[in-house]
Amino acid sequence: MTPTNTILIIDDSPDTIRLLSAMVREQGRVLFATSGAAGLELAKVQRPQLILLDVEMQGMDGFAVNEQIRRDPDLRGSAVIFVTAQSSPEAEIACLDAGAVDFIPKPLNAAVVQARVRTHLRLQAALTALDELANQDGLTGLYNRRYFDRQLAAEFARHRRHQLPLGLALIDVDDFKLFNDRYGHQRGDGCLQEVAEALRDGARRPGELAARYGGEEFVVLLPNTTPDALERYGDWMCRRIGALGIAHPGASAAPHVTCSIGLCALLPGPDDTAEAMLHAADMALYRAKRAGRNRSVMAGPEPQPA
Ligand code: GH3
Ligand code: MG
Ligand code: MG
Ligand code: MG
Repeated sequence: MTPTNTILIIDDSPDTIRLLSAMVREQGRVLFATSGAAGLELAKVQRPQLILLDVEMQGMDGFAVNEQIRRDPDLRGSAVIFVTAQSSPEAEIACLDAGAVDFIPKPLNAAVVQARVRTHLRLQAALTALDELANQDGLTGLYNRRYFDRQLAAEFARHRRHQLPLGLALIDVDDFKLFNDRYGHQRGDGCLQEVAEALRDGARRPGELAARYGGEEFVVLLPNTTPDALERYGDWMCRRIGALGIAHPGASAAPHVTCSIGLCALLPGPDDTAEAMLHAADMALYRAKRAGRNRSVMAGPEPQPA
């Protein structure tokens, strides 16, 4: 099912709002605001696909509103169409230069308005789908590494700013090469999909994010998570993946598919980096492998040379 489109009309004239609403009401859920400030508030909450923005408004004019929209990362998915009585080529170019996707002249013509709105709703839908694809791993449907790295950087900065503990888990399927050798690559793919599903289903708290980091390696970001809670997550996820009961007679830790998990919990300080955090989790994962697999290990201080 395609989600309903939301169209936000921002115009200081109630008459124009009435007219425009009537023209586009078949094309989506229509919201309106009679000032730029109110429109911005509404846009942040409702995330409309399309904003029909009056250029000439009392107070904050359409260009100023558009400027705020362009600057707000939360509103990247909202395309702006300017609506204006200024129909000179210069005025039109100024609108497009400001980053609007289109321009609708007043007086309003229903057929023109509907055609433009239809075109841009389609384009927005395509862009949204493309964005999702670009962030997704094709095999498992989890987020991909590209998206994860961006989220990690953002969450790392946020946790540092607010001095919150951030948790990271690196999950690697045990003896997976053997699994492929025995059952073939296709069953291997199926196994990765099942593991991915367990990880997705296990990311339950708001902001928790599971991604495929590459090959048979996954990563989960756990915002605002204490070391104790992270340890519990690691043990729990190990058990859950074991409990999938995917036969793997050749595996070293159990006769079914298991995984090893490296954990890192950090209250990010000024000298910490996301890269170092990933590295610490990777070292912990290596220790989990060395200690016999099918377990999770918390990153600790690096062992000092004797
Ligand atoms: P360990 O317990 O030390 O992690 O051993 P392992 O065999 O799991 O690790 P290794 O790195 O030797 O092998 C990983 C294997 O994962 C090899 C590779 O062919 C397989 N693999 C990586 N990506 C995919 C994939 O998308 N599908 C399938 N079927 N196999 C994959
Ligand atoms: Mg006006
Ligand atoms: Mg492995
Ligand atoms: Mg691996």
